[in-house]
Formats: sequence, C-alpha cells, structure tokens
Amino acid sequence: MALNLDSFRNEPHLDFTKPENIRKQREALEKVRKQFGHEYPNLIDGKEVYSREKLYTTNPAHPSEIVGIFQKGLRRDAEQALQAAWRAFEQWSNVPAEERALYLIKAAQEMRRRRMELNAWMISEVGKNYAEADADTCEAIDFLEYYAREAIRYAQPQPVTPVPGERNEYFYIPLGAGVIIPPWNFPLAILTGMASAAIVSGNTVVVKPSSESPMMGWLLADIFRRVGLPEGVLNLVVGSGSEVGDFLVAHPRTRFIAFTGSMEVGLRIHELAAKPQPGQLWIKRTILEMGGKDAIIVDSEADLEAAVQGVVLSAYGYQGQKCSACSRAIVDKAVYADFVHRLKQAVKGLRIGDPAENYEVGPVISARAQESILYYIQIGRQEGRLLVGGNPVGDLDGYYIEPTVFINVPPRARLAQEEIFGPVLAVLKANSFVDAIRIANGTIYGLTGSVYSRNPDKLRLARDKFHVGNLYFNRKCTGALVGGHPFGGFNMSGTDSKAGGPDYLLLFLQGKSVSEKLY
Ligand code: NAP
Repeated sequence: MALNLDSFRNEPHLDFTKPENIRKQREALEKVRKQFGHEYPNLIDGKEVYSREKLYTTNPAHPSEIVGIFQKGLRRDAEQALQAAWRAFEQWSNVPAEERALYLIKAAQEMRRRRMELNAWMISEVGKNYAEADADTCEAIDFLEYYAREAIRYAQPQPVTPVPGERNEYFYIPLGAGVIIPPWNFPLAILTGMASAAIVSGNTVVVKPSSESPMMGWLLADIFRRVGLPEGVLNLVVGSGSEVGDFLVAHPRTRFIAFTGSMEVGLRIHELAAKPQPGQLWIKRTILEMGGKDAIIVDSEADLEAAVQGVVLSAYGYQGQKCSACSRAIVDKAVYADFVHRLKQAVKGLRIGDPAENYEVGPVISARAQESILYYIQIGRQEGRLLVGGNPVGDLDGYYIEPTVFINVPPRARLAQEEIFGPVLAVLKANSFVDAIRIANGTIYGLTGSVYSRNPDKLRLARDKFHVGNLYFNRKCTGALVGGHPFGGFNMSGTDSKAGGPDYLLLFLQGKSVSEKLY
C-alpha cells in the first residue's frame, strides 16, 4: 500500500473572536449536554465490558452535573486487557508501517469531523474554555498526523557502514504490549499522543485514562474502533491509578509504560517498574513526563507590556493547570515595581466564570485540587505579600479560585519551589540577569521557561544556561506545537522524551542488527 502524505502541518486553531465559531461551539455544547449521564463501557479485546462498580465524572463548573458514568475496572479487567494486547501484538507487529499509519490518519480525519463535539466534552468534563479545548483537540490531531509520518520514516532501511564480506542491516521493531497512563489536563492530546505513538510503532496498549477525564479515554477508544483498528490493539480500562495503574505497572508482562502526570506518581512508577517480577523477561521501558515549576524571566531590557501579557497568559491559561504554566515570574529589580503595577491591573481584568460561556478563567478540576491550591495560598500569605486574589469565588457554583499573585516571594520559599497546579503566581525579584537565571534554575524541575529581553547577548546566555527542556524568548512559556517545539523536561520534570519530536517514536521501538556472512 502506498500512502502518499504531504509534509506535516499543524492543525490551525479556530478563531473564537468570530461569532460563527462561538455559535457552532455553543450548539455542540447543547448537543453534548443532552447526553450527560450516559454510561460507557470499557473496551477489552474489542468487546464492551461492564463492571459492577461505576466511576462518575462531573462538570467542575457545576459539580452536581454527571457528565458520564464509567466502569470502575478491577485487576481482573486489567489482566484481561493486557492478555488481549499481547494476543493482538502477534499480528499487529507484522502489519506494514504505512498500513498502521493509515489508521492514525483516519482517526485524525474523524477528530476533525467531530472537533466541536470533542471540544464540548472537554469543556464539560475538565473545564477548559473554547480556545483551550480547541487547542487540545488540534494537538491530538497533530500527534496523529505527525506520528503517522514518523512511523513511515522509521520503517525505512537504516544506514549501516559497509563491512567487506558481509551483508548488514539495521532496523527497528516494536517492543510489545504496554500501558498508557495520561493525566487529565490535556485529556485528549496527551492521551492520543502517547497511545498513537505506541500503536503506530507496532505495539499494542492498555489505556488507563485519568479518573478525572475518562470520557476522553472513551472517545479516543471509540474513534479508533470506528476507523477499524483491529481488536485488542488498543484496550481501554477505566479505573483508579492505585488499583489498576499499580497492577499494570508491576505486571511481569508489561513491556513499557508511557506516563504523563505528577512527579510523585511518575517516580513511583519508575521504582515499581524497575523491580523485576517473577517470570519477567525484560527491563521495562518507562517514559515518564512529570511536573514543572516554570519561570518567566523579565529582564531590565524587556518590553514590559509584552512580558505582562505573556506572564498572564502562561500563568492563568486553563487556570494554571498546565505542566508548562508560568508559576514564577522572576523580574529584574530595575523594572520590578513597574512590572508589578502593570501585572496587578492585568490580573484584575481577567473574567472568571463558566467555561461553557467561554470565560477566560474557569474552575479548577476538583474539590481536592481546590483544597490543595487554597492550602498553598495560605502558605503564600506567610511567605510573600498577596497582591491580587487569594480566595475561592463564593458566588459561583463550581471549584473556582481567583487568579492569585504573590509578590516579594523568596527563591527558596515553598511557593517558589513546589508545583501548585492552579492559578497562583509567585513574583520574585532578581538583582541582575545572571541572578535571574540562577533563581530560575534553582528548583528540582526543568520543564519550560521563557525570557523577555531585547538584548541578544542576554538571550544567548539564557540559551546556554537556562536549564529547561523547552525555552522560549519573548513569548509565553505554554502552547508548544507538535513538530515545532518537541516537548519534554529535564531533571525531575521527566525523562525528556520530547513528545511531538523526531526522537519520540524511538522510545517505542528497539533496534535490531542483522549481519550475514557472504560466501
Ligand atoms: P497524577 O495524579 O500523577 O495522575 C496521572 C495519571 O496517573 C492518572 O491517570 C492517574 O490515575 C494515574 N495514577 C495515579 N496513581 C497511580 C499509580 N500508583 N500507578 C499508576 N498510575 C497512577 O497527575 P494528574 O493530576 O493527572 O496531572 C497533573 C500532573 O501532570 C502535573 O504534575 C503536571 O505537571 C503533569 N503533567 C506533565 C506534563 C509533561 O509533559 N511533563 C504534561 C501534562 C501534565 P487516577 O486519575 O485514576 O489517579
């Protein structure tokens, strides 16, 4: 089969300043609301499987609304799913790369067709506003299109140095059956990216979506089913991380684990996966993408208006619930007062409300998240000076927290060191540009960062010394694009797997060298 694909291009985001797009998104939301409370099965070996215990997801903007009812899978389901994945692997691993890639291209087409509906589910299940939800769907489409092309590239014969008297080959083969464990904050994009990279490389998977966003897990599994992906290649088991997740990670027949989530859970998976179990034949491969404490440096020579805008977008986009979110603004003392003054005005101007009405700032994901963020706000009151926000939003149903800024936060304060994962920004004062980089590098993380400066020498210095996986100049530190900004962090932010980059599929492959002596 010849699959002629033109070169990869990012899916253009919809412009929601256009009334036409707003209208279409509202209509899709209404349609989706009519399906609230429906029940969805797990998918194991192509079969719909129901459990006795259920898992309910609710709308974080209106917690009494049940978005969907899912099956709370148990170890037995996980075991069956893993076995089904291994059975499917026998055939799937021999399917030519172009044929496997075609399933991804078809899934991308299906997502484009259902784009408004996917956005609407995301708006309802995890509280994204229209643009954030649409960017998530676009990124999912991008991963499918990008990895389809990458799989074909990796399937080509790899160059080897000629050795006289031998015929030598080097090529890549898949790993086997693995487990995909995504977070809820990019519930379609990250799930789609990790799952599609694994299967297009010839592996089979058990997907365990986040308990906060099982609807997106169901939608992806259903999309792949609709485009005819063979049974057992992608199995869906909704269930708790500690029950089903731990079981799958520790299982001797799990060949690899692709995880994105918090540092605590990532490190636990790392440890558990490292311990060989009786009967285990391999060292498990782990791909672990974790948290961040991302900083934007505002230099004395920065365009301050642009810097304020970049910090606000990065800190409060999706309520700060992005691994790439700016949670520290490190500002040169020469412009500190001016920056703080402008920042205050900008943050006060943010509109808070129901994401279904497309407000800029919506609710955080859950009551537990709200509680944890409010706990950090209490700590912040002791460690810095509260400039804006600091409270839950009392007159709104849902888990809202005001966009919050603390100033004069010392670099070693907990507020400046620990991932909060909410709309809380710490502003730190630096004595110089070099001092700002030192502060920026002074956490255990190393995911994203940004520098606002007009001075090219300082940007060059930051290029070399600011130790993060994704560094941006004179723009926000969120919004990495597949292909353009391969994404993944250093240090405790993860294994630097660089999703959406040219090295990513290698993580799901192993190289085989074959050498034949010529007579
Ligand atoms: P999380 O609590 O670590 O959960 C992530 C996934 O792990 C969920 O599916 C969860 O399932 C599962 N899980 C929990 N305990 C487990 C266990 N013992 N064994 C196996 N799986 C387990 O993270 P989250 O709250 O969903 O996501 C937010 C975090 O993700 C933040 O720290 C953020 O920075 C990080 N993140 C990083 C990146 C990146 O690219 N570096 C991107 C996005 C997000 P349950 O939901 O059932 O508990």
